[in-house]
Amino acid sequence: MSDLRGKTVIITGGSRGIGKACCLEFAKQGANVVFTFNKSQKEADDLVVEIKKFGVDCLSLQTDVRDYDQCYAVVQKTLEHFKQVEILVNNAGIKKDKALFMMLAEEWKDVIETNLYGTFNMTKAAIITFLKQKKGCIINMSSVSGIVGLVGQTNYSASKAGIIGFSKALAKEVAAYGIRVNVVCPGFIETDMVGSLREDLKKEILKLVPLKRLGTPEEVALICTFLASEKASYLTGEVIRVDGGLAI
Ligand code: NDP
Repeated sequence: MSDLRGKTVIITGGSRGIGKACCLEFAKQGANVVFTFNKSQKEADDLVVEIKKFGVDCLSLQTDVRDYDQCYAVVQKTLEHFKQVEILVNNAGIKKDKALFMMLAEEWKDVIETNLYGTFNMTKAAIITFLKQKKGCIINMSSVSGIVGLVGQTNYSASKAGIIGFSKALAKEVAAYGIRVNVVCPGFIETDMVGSLREDLKKEILKLVPLKRLGTPEEVALICTFLASEKASYLTGEVIRVDGGLAI
């Protein structure tokens, strides 16, 4: 039996892509799921129905992760409904790719605020609960782009590298309280984020991936449930690439 059964997980950006796959995998393994979305109300409503088919409870909350008060409300509503929360997956993220000389300050700001401030906001909102209960697991979604840097992604790479530094520092800070913090770095995964790339660009990308295919959201979700489980009880401050070898 999965040791996630009966636990509660908060997943940001659960309405689509990797976040959605995480919601379904955690539910499949018996966890109650709270997920946030920004704009995709219809997708969120449909997902609640899918999640409940696994016999677990689910809350969906419209939340802009750029706003600390909204993130704080997510944790409060989770505690009101479930009385507990053990796992946080900071997955919500955006990209606005452009060469630096063309990049608008607004495009820099949007990406940093969503990806990096969003991770800070949700983590800060949840950490008091984790510290009080001396138990908690945080999984932050970074990217291969945060490890190696990718052309056209100075804003995105900076935000994702920031998430790695943030996670390593926090892992040291809270380890004594039984809280683990780890990072997942996907490569190119088949979601709307990659779907928006030009076909010729996708072909070029595949040449760089030793396994010669895009990854699936489910392959990333399985690493997240592993990190949240007791199987990963001695893992903290770790950065795991799920990238088909892209960053070797
Ligand atoms: P998608 O674009 O498919 O989904 C993004 C999710 O984030 C959506 O649920 C969206 O909500 C939510 N979101 C966006 N902005 C906000 C916001 N301001 N507040 C709250 N939620 C928000 O992305 P992916 O599934 O592809 O990516 C998920 C994570 O994985 C991201 O952090 C991304 O950077 C990372 N990643 C993805 C890779 C890939 O190849 N796909 C590669 C490496 C990393 P809504 O639906 O309401 O808009």
